[in-house]
Amino acid sequence: MTRTASAACPYCGVGCQLDVTLNDSGRVAAIRGNATAEANLGRICPKGALLGETINTKDRLTTPLLRVDGGGVFVPISWDSALDLLAGKIKEFVAESGPDSVGFYGSGQLDTEAWYAAGKLFKGALGTNNTDSNSRLCMASAVAGYRTSLGSDGPPVCYDDIDLADVVLVVGSNMAEAHPVLFDRLKAHKRRDPGVTVIVVDPRRTPTADFADIHLQLTPGSDIPLLNALASLLIAAEAVDYDFIEQHSSGYEAYRDFVTSEPLAEAERLTGLTAAQIEAVAKLLAGATNVLSLYCMGINQSTFGMWKNNSLINLHLLLGQVGKPGAGPFSLTGQPNAMGGRESGALAHMLPGYRLAEDASHRAEVEASWGLPAGRIAPKSGLTAVEMFRALERGTLRLLWIAATNPAVSMPDLHQAKRALAGGEFVVVQDIYHPTETSQFADLVLPAAQWGEKDGTSTNSERMMTYSPAFLEPTGQPRPDWWILAEVGRRIAPELFPWQDSGEVWDEFRGITAGRPCDLSGATRARLETGPLQWPCPTEEHPGMKRRYEDQVFATPDGRARFHPWPYRPPREQTDHEFPLILTTGRVASHWHSRTRTGKVAKLVKQDPEPFVEIHAVDASARGIHEGDLVHVSSRRGVVKVRARIGTAVAPGCIFLPFHWGDSYAKGTAANYLTNPVIGRISKEPEFKYCAVQVERFAMGLPAADAAG
Ligand code: SF4
Repeated sequence: MTRTASAACPYCGVGCQLDVTLNDSGRVAAIRGNATAEANLGRICPKGALLGETINTKDRLTTPLLRVDGGGVFVPISWDSALDLLAGKIKEFVAESGPDSVGFYGSGQLDTEAWYAAGKLFKGALGTNNTDSNSRLCMASAVAGYRTSLGSDGPPVCYDDIDLADVVLVVGSNMAEAHPVLFDRLKAHKRRDPGVTVIVVDPRRTPTADFADIHLQLTPGSDIPLLNALASLLIAAEAVDYDFIEQHSSGYEAYRDFVTSEPLAEAERLTGLTAAQIEAVAKLLAGATNVLSLYCMGINQSTFGMWKNNSLINLHLLLGQVGKPGAGPFSLTGQPNAMGGRESGALAHMLPGYRLAEDASHRAEVEASWGLPAGRIAPKSGLTAVEMFRALERGTLRLLWIAATNPAVSMPDLHQAKRALAGGEFVVVQDIYHPTETSQFADLVLPAAQWGEKDGTSTNSERMMTYSPAFLEPTGQPRPDWWILAEVGRRIAPELFPWQDSGEVWDEFRGITAGRPCDLSGATRARLETGPLQWPCPTEEHPGMKRRYEDQVFATPDGRARFHPWPYRPPREQTDHEFPLILTTGRVASHWHSRTRTGKVAKLVKQDPEPFVEIHAVDASARGIHEGDLVHVSSRRGVVKVRARIGTAVAPGCIFLPFHWGDSYAKGTAANYLTNPVIGRISKEPEFKYCAVQVERFAMGLPAADAAG
């Protein structure tokens, strides 16, 4: 007898709702896109459709494991032993070295209930803000950008706005491969209305750029001069919304004076674009009825990523293109619950309900809600992702608990991250598979329940909260992430973790958001069981809000959005004679993050079987490199060996490496052996999109890739 279930896809931030058919044995027989789900309207991409192949794999982690000899031998232990050991270690380190000696590093793949439990354990019970998410590596600039420009994190727009825009500006997003279902929606919109103009700003000619009417192939890192030049041209043409500016914004005069003082020739020099190209785009923006921008890692993964976000939002404010249908700045999230993590206070500077750890009144509100003594929550932000791995290597962070992420592939400067993991005093890895590149370093490995085996809530890019039920029999003894965190919490501060099920965690969390910009207190579990809801949703009768700021009142203290006049700053690392090329990293369509799931799916592996470097024909020819040659790519931090793909997708002087492959595929192939761990001053996001490299044809006698650096 077949059964069906409906759940959110656990891959990207589009948050497609999937209809799963289960066969007689309770196994996944087929997966289709849910026809009525607003996120995907029946669409699905191959990653989601083939999820069934990732469930019952040979490397499924079924029981807690303890490292016994320090050399990679793990033995199974009981849950009680594992939880007692972990809680005991945390108590021991906190007693000896203070609460900041422990930390939790999770991901946008943890559900909201898990993140809420992690925050309550670390920020509440222990008094350290050392929880951070791998969202720090991709979305932190967008979080900071929204907050400083509009007064609150969280996109103002929704997916329906794609169907209503007449000019779509895609900046630093290869949505054709990273958000394929959303890209299909954009394509369908343009098919229906060929008058819609799609402009793509990207240093690389991606499949997204191929589809665009206009591709601005700018020099990597030069987004701000482009955005400021567009603003200057719009102001000169008086093609701005003076009413909006006067009534709903602040800082316009300083912004106007700054951007109009910059000569267009300077923007040409910095971006590598011509004045005619920039003027053509300015003209389109000036004549548009509805301007929607879609953006992603291309502007986020930069030490000036927050400034780039602000500069793009400036354009929307200038044109009055925000808070109305078909318009606004739309940051696309990479992961299924990056948004829910932000709402529940996952990041090291945040507390639940978009509160800030460094705001005394926010701390007091959370302490009161959790029944904690005043002053329990630490008054400063905790360690962020890169800072955690530095502290782990130094030994000041004595225990790092890693969940639902694979930093031994995804951190910048992998040699450093792996040194930290290898030398860390006590490393815990909670995952669904073992071994992974990261779990091999663990002292304790905890088996997490996977998609379908647990219930929980996630929020997609358009603020849509989806509840996913459990519908699969667990393999072995995995446990939901929230349960593991709560069980450790019960061994430390039992009064704080009374929950019997995930619904009780959700109830507590939604209550703490009341009155906040991300108020979702009206989204009861019972309502979510009947279908997804968008926040804000402040009462149990509220239908959820498609768009924010339609009243043009922003979340700043005076209700006005802020212009920010930011200048161009060069990337932190420069090319030179030794490293003359610029490396940028990104995704391919078939794989997800570090391939722990997609690397097990035959069709996906067949489509994208191996890591590669994309290099322009001119640069390849100058180095004697032919299509398919093995090459060494080296930076100031390391060297990798991959196969060359020659073409014109990247400009001369630039190369591209996808970041998905790690040592479990082949040692010394991971792009992040090369990347720069320098982080933004406020966002703390690393500069994945720019570092200086050299490429050489591989020849015997060159150093082994994995040993260098
Ligand atoms: S587009 Fe994203 S959310 Fe939708 S099925 Fe594909 S991976 Fe899953």
